[in-house]
Amino acid sequence: MSTTAPAAAGSATHDAGGAGALPTGPVPTAEELAALYAHAAHNYAPLPVVLAHGEGAWVTDTSGRRYLDALAGYSALNFGHRHPRLTAVAHQQLDRLTLVSRAFDHDRFADFTGELAALCGKDAVLPMNTGAEAVETAIKAARRWGYQRKGIAEGAARIVVAAGNFHGRTTTIVSFSTDPDARGGYGPYTPGFDVVGYGDLAALEAAITDDTCAVLLEPIQGEGGVIIPPEGYLHGVRDVCDRRGVLLVADEIQSGLGRTGRTFACEHEGVVPDLYILGKALGGGVIPLSAIVADREVMDVFTPGSHGSTFGGNPLACAVGTEVVRMLTEGTWQPRAAALGARLETGLSALPEGLLDGWRVRGLWAGLDVAGGRTGRQVCEALLARGVLAKDTHGSTIRLAPPLVITEDEVDLLVATLAEALTD
Ligand SMILES: *Cc1c(COP(=O)(O)O)cnc(C)c1O
Repeated sequence: MSTTAPAAAGSATHDAGGAGALPTGPVPTAEELAALYAHAAHNYAPLPVVLAHGEGAWVTDTSGRRYLDALAGYSALNFGHRHPRLTAVAHQQLDRLTLVSRAFDHDRFADFTGELAALCGKDAVLPMNTGAEAVETAIKAARRWGYQRKGIAEGAARIVVAAGNFHGRTTTIVSFSTDPDARGGYGPYTPGFDVVGYGDLAALEAAITDDTCAVLLEPIQGEGGVIIPPEGYLHGVRDVCDRRGVLLVADEIQSGLGRTGRTFACEHEGVVPDLYILGKALGGGVIPLSAIVADREVMDVFTPGSHGSTFGGNPLACAVGTEVVRMLTEGTWQPRAAALGARLETGLSALPEGLLDGWRVRGLWAGLDVAGGRTGRQVCEALLARGVLAKDTHGSTIRLAPPLVITEDEVDLLVATLAEALTD
């Protein structure tokens, strides 16, 4: 495999210091960080680094230190920071038309919806902005479909979801979260959801009743720690949904759009859901853009006035989103993610015994369970000190999701730095 990215954004070309020339030096002081957050809500606990510039797989902080970005905005930056094709279309669109609201049509809408529908093999697209909004849109579509097409009694529709899910932060979505931090204190909660163990096909089928309109799942649980379900699970879920007349709704917001080595993670089991939920990388790391994608039979439950968004499907987002879809349609990113992921997996396999309790890789996406009682946060701080940015999740897990523009040498650098940080 070539170490050159499919387009000019190859971070290797920007790598002034060369692989191995990682920065060292003090992180911002506690006083500097306190000043930064003096007027901010405390709903995040970011790593102590203040970034000012990004290109490809690399970011630079306010003191000029460079870091390899191994998180990529939770996969919102699949194509790296400021990919030239994406910034070019954004600049062009900024100089023409940015927002009209859906009260009027604009000349960027048809290309985006048509090309995204084609990428998904579906009839129709409903664009929104954030992932959570798209999940909410999917829940509305599934419920209406249940009432109008399946004949469920009004107000009785139920949706089966998985324990350990992450689908966003709205009150309805956290209502069926099993994470006490995400859910606690936000009641009263939206009813109508049944939670079953992720990967437990028998439990899923047992939870389905005549009132069930949909099964909503991440094909790989991202926030959960890159949890890959047992082989055959997604295929089995598809089969259960077909037999029981229930929609399969796949939240591919983090797993989709090239990350796993395929356009969609569902493809690893040859599964096509009834409804795709997309976000994150759809906006190219430039603009928030999400969507649901489905066939007419599902999408046409929406009628004028029954759902919408002021910013959803705006010209700027559609211009960037269309370019993202074209890049994926060219088909070079998916095998690139697969090959780089195989290299990452080889590197992780060669780590000394005892550093990790377990790890999972699918495409260029890995969840690592840190051994020895250290927290993921501690290891992420050790990585930061060595010039690699990554994010912990659920205590002892670290997620690696570098941009797909990363080179083979940079994957090796990531693994070598990880080995050091784990032995700190
Ligand atoms: C990030 C994420 C969401 C929520 O997206 P936001 O844009 O943060 O609202 C939903 N589902 C999955 C699987 C995600 O990873």
